[in-house]
Amino acid sequence: MRVLRVLHQERIFYGSLVDNAVHCLNKELGYEAPIPLKELSVLPPVMPTKIVCLAVNYRKHAEECGRDIPEEPILFLKPPSAVIGCGQAIVLPSQSSRVDYEGELAMVIGKACRNVTPEQAPEHVFGYACANDVTARDLQKKDGLFARAKGFDTFAPIGPWIETEVKDPANLSIKTLVNNELRQDGHTSDMIFPPFDILSMISQVMTLNPGDVILTGTPPGIGPIKPGDDIRIEIEEVGILINPVAQDPNQPDAKTTLTQ
Ligand code: MG
Repeated sequence: MRVLRVLHQERIFYGSLVDNAVHCLNKELGYEAPIPLKELSVLPPVMPTKIVCLAVNYRKHAEECGRDIPEEPILFLKPPSAVIGCGQAIVLPSQSSRVDYEGELAMVIGKACRNVTPEQAPEHVFGYACANDVTARDLQKKDGLFARAKGFDTFAPIGPWIETEVKDPANLSIKTLVNNELRQDGHTSDMIFPPFDILSMISQVMTLNPGDVILTGTPPGIGPIKPGDDIRIEIEEVGILINPVAQDPNQPDAKTTLTQ
């Protein structure tokens, strides 16, 4: 099932997408007929309390960054305020001159969990989505920490929906295209720590709540984005997430800040 979060006539609800129409999953709202997709707005499919991410989780990406293969997953957090949905613009902040895409498989928690084993992990997963761990690479290097580099508003595109029926999240092709040009062509079987091991390990540290998101790391081929680009992340069995790129409209224009 493809689960969308939508806005229709000032009401926000979850629905399943079938043949370009949304079937409301909240029975109390009284929708009987499916609503054509074009009559509603699609929102980001998640409202997480946290987004837990892995820093280096594909062998070839570790090579490309000159990093050793980590012995344990290296975790960082992105703020929930960074989330945008499919079609919304990634806004480049004026503080950075190098912002990169990172196509990633997102795992969405369905049932709260703490201290679960990899074997118990699947029952706590609601589904999967495409995600882009947008990163201000220059600020990541400058700060040595990830909060600013990974935390700007719009730096966590997730969507377009949550796919609840993925056979094996550790066996999916994952691609990133910039303006229809293939830039990342990876496979989740190349992960150093597979999805259910990651969930288990994170749950040894913190409680995962329904709607929380785990970003499972990016395959090799990361690179910069610029205003006007279209970033497309395609994951087998999951979906296609597309986001345009825009410049921060509040960026001060160098010419107008000159004093005369
Ligand atoms: Mg990443």
